[in-house]
Amino acid sequence: AADALDAEACARIFEAKGRPRFDPLIVHVRNEAMLDEVAEVPAAAAEAVRRLMAEFWPGPLTFVLPRRPAVPDIVTAGLPTVAVRSPKNPLFRAVLKELGRPLAAPSANRFGSISPTSAAAVMAELAGEIPLVVDAGACSDGVESTIVRVGGAAAGGKARIELLRPGPVTVEMLKRFGKVEPAAAAGGAPDAPGQLASHYAPRTPLRLLGRPEDFEAAPGRRYALLSYRGQEKDGYLGLHEWDALQVLSPGSGKLPEAAVRFFFALRTLDGAGVDEIVAEPIPKRGVGLAIADRLERAAAAH
Ligand code: AMP
Ligand code: MG
Repeated sequence: AADALDAEACARIFEAKGRPRFDPLIVHVRNEAMLDEVAEVPAAAAEAVRRLMAEFWPGPLTFVLPRRPAVPDIVTAGLPTVAVRSPKNPLFRAVLKELGRPLAAPSANRFGSISPTSAAAVMAELAGEIPLVVDAGACSDGVESTIVRVGGAAAGGKARIELLRPGPVTVEMLKRFGKVEPAAAAGGAPDAPGQLASHYAPRTPLRLLGRPEDFEAAPGRRYALLSYRGQEKDGYLGLHEWDALQVLSPGSGKLPEAAVRFFFALRTLDGAGVDEIVAEPIPKRGVGLAIADRLERAAAAH
C-alpha cells in the first residue's frame, strides 16, 4: 500500500509488482468523508451509490467514480475516473485511521501472477521488493473486490450497475439496487485496461474443462486436478490418476468456501511439479462467477 495522494510512493507499487503503468490502482478510504477527497459522486447516480455504500461498505465493493484533482495520474493510469472502496479488515482500517489519508493498494503479487491470500504468499511473490508485511491473517473473501460503475436511473427506472469485475459482492446481491449489466453489454470494452484477458496465471499451464469428456491424458505427462467439490459423481476425480489434487469446497460445493480457498489451491498445485493443471468448471452463480472469471483468465495465459 502507498499514500494514494503521493505519486512517488505509488510509483513504488508499480516497480515492486512489475505492474504496467496503464493498470490503475484501487484507492482505499476509511469512510465517505475520505471518499470525498478523491472522488466525486455524480448527482444522477448519488442515490444508488449511497444505498450501495450503506449496504456493502466497509467491504469488497469498489466504485469507479470521477476523480478529484488531488489524485495523482499514476494512480488512475491517466483516466478521468478513480476506483475507490472502503475495506473491512480491522487492521487495514486502523492503518487508514492513523494515517488519515487514502491508501492505494493492489493485490500484493507480481503483475499477472496468482493473487496472494496470506502473508506467506505475499513473501513468496515480493520478498526483497517491499519493506514489510503486516500479517493480519488470511483473506476472508479469497478473491478481489467486485468493481462497479453506477449510472443514473433512466426516467423513473432503476439505476444501471455496470459490472467491471465480478467478486465477493455478487450479481444476486447487487440486483436489489439496480439493473446489473456486464461491462461489455454496457458499451464496449471497459475504459480501464486492468481486466486483461490473461491474468492470475500459474507458471504451470492451466486447462479449464467444460465437461469430463474434454480431458484426455497424454502419455508421460503429469497432471494435477483442481476440483470443485471432490465428488466422484461429478465425473472428473476418476478420469485419471492425478499427480496432485486440490478440492475447493470438499463435499458441499459451497461457493464462498471455494472462493476463500481458490488462490491458495492454485498456488499449491503450481508448486506440485506437474506439467499441467486441469480445472473443473465452477457454477457461474454467486461468487462462483468471480472464481470462473479468474479461472478463464488463468487458462488464457498459455
Ligand atoms: P486490483 O487488481 O485489486 O489491484 O485492482 C485494480 C483493478 O481495478 C484494475 O486492474 C482495474 O480493473 C480496476 N480499476 C482501477 N481503477 C479503475 C478505473 N479508474 N476505471 C476502471 N477500472 C479501474
Ligand atoms: Mg491484482
